[in-house]
Amino acid sequence: MSAPNPETALNALKGRIANATLGAAAEESGTVLGLADGLAQVSGLPGVVLNEILIFPTGARGFALSLEEDSVQVAFLDSADGIAAGGKVRRTGEVVSVPVGEALLGRVLDPLGRPLDGREPPDTSEHLAAERLAPTIIERDFVSEPLETGLLVIDALFAIGRGQRELIIGERQTGKTSIAVDAILNQCESDVVCIYVAIGQRAAAVARVIDTVRGREAMARTIFVVAEASGEPGLRWLAPFSATSMAEWFRDRGRHALIVYDDLTKHAATHRELALLARQPPGREAFPGDIFYLHARLLERSGKLSARHGGGSITALPIAEIDAGNLSAYIPTNLISISDGQIVTSASLFAANQRPAVDVGLSVSRVGGKAQAGALKKVAGRLRLEYAQYLEKKMFSRFGGFGDSGAAEGLLRGERIAALLTQHRFAPLPLLVQVALLAALDAGLLDKVDVGAVATIKGRLPALLAADPHLNRLRAAPDQLDDDIRKALLQHVRTALGTT
Ligand code: ATP
Ligand code: MG
Repeated sequence: MSAPNPETALNALKGRIANATLGAAAEESGTVLGLADGLAQVSGLPGVVLNEILIFPTGARGFALSLEEDSVQVAFLDSADGIAAGGKVRRTGEVVSVPVGEALLGRVLDPLGRPLDGREPPDTSEHLAAERLAPTIIERDFVSEPLETGLLVIDALFAIGRGQRELIIGERQTGKTSIAVDAILNQCESDVVCIYVAIGQRAAAVARVIDTVRGREAMARTIFVVAEASGEPGLRWLAPFSATSMAEWFRDRGRHALIVYDDLTKHAATHRELALLARQPPGREAFPGDIFYLHARLLERSGKLSARHGGGSITALPIAEIDAGNLSAYIPTNLISISDGQIVTSASLFAANQRPAVDVGLSVSRVGGKAQAGALKKVAGRLRLEYAQYLEKKMFSRFGGFGDSGAAEGLLRGERIAALLTQHRFAPLPLLVQVALLAALDAGLLDKVDVGAVATIKGRLPALLAADPHLNRLRAAPDQLDDDIRKALLQHVRTALGTT
């Protein structure tokens, strides 16, 4: 075949332009059939696709939430004021998308990326669709690097790995949000960017979380995506999806993101609300049948990519609220089955001032153990069993049980463990401090001191360890804990105890 002659090609083009017939392009528009809270039923848009943005005459936007045979359910993204049945709706041909990029860090945005912090819109030209496909199995890799939360009870007992989905689940006011926020604050010196998604919370509660982070270094590497309880249900519905796209931008560049969905119980309630308004058939607990699929496809988007695909990761901490400790309700069981473990918070522990109130019996981390730093693994080995035995013995002793010397010893050790696992908010413990504390427990150092001394050591150790250059070896290779380093760590604990 000979190369095309540019002259002929040009003439052909000119010919086509000359013969073109100009006319009005057909624009598909539909009619509002009915309105319900935050939702419009629209007819006459045969070509519309799921998640497509539609525009109402007032300029308000909505997106196609569900497609029916001869109508579309449109969820509003702006106020529906001024829109009435019979009004026109225009297609845009574009699906819901959000701005993404570095410029979003440090910002408070709504689920469409519009600023809520009184500043200019984020300076970025890139957009990603809010709903995107999860990476395939081939694109993924095993979870192998730790995501340190700085909370001893989690890092030692239920280690979380980068790319893991760990549910935080518990009753109202048991410190669920605080655990997630502490994990965010602990990333201030790591290479992990954080995204906190507030779904259906009261404005004051969200403001508290934002203020907590804003006053600290972690703000510079955190994005807040907020869809308040009082806003459009469509925005609440969209929030976790669009925030995940923001996280994916980092992941696709080989970077690591931590995303907190606070909380998916409220997201499920929004989904139910919209489905009932759209007259979809309700199923169990009046949720529509696709509720499981909704959250499965959301959480599938988290994970660790293989080195061939850049090695980036998204770690998800979805939060869920339960009533009266009932983990077997519909939404909790769904969420438990689609995550890689759960941190269960307990109202009774919380009331007894054991905070973070993590129930070690019900909590589990299914993949993070492989990612846990070797040094921590070495010293945390018996912790869970000893602590569980302690809790059991404590219950018996309350009934005036055994009282033999073995039980007394177990109680003594257990009290020290409980004191170690108690942690104030905003007081993350660096890995080295965690290792030193558990090595001291292991060596029996803490059994000899008053239980109150545990808090003192926790306060003093970080500075002592930070000042010791000999520990750099462990800092550089947290998988190696040799006897020399173990001795050095114990010596620091003795110094902190004042028993040198
Ligand atoms: P909600 O169900 O309302 O979302 P929650 O389970 O997310 O509540 P938080 O808001 O995190 O709970 O915490 C409830 C209260 O307990 C807050 O006032 C918080 O300051 C306090 N709290 C949480 N964790 C700790 C802790 N480790 N030490 C001391 N106080 C804590
Ligand atoms: Mg909360």
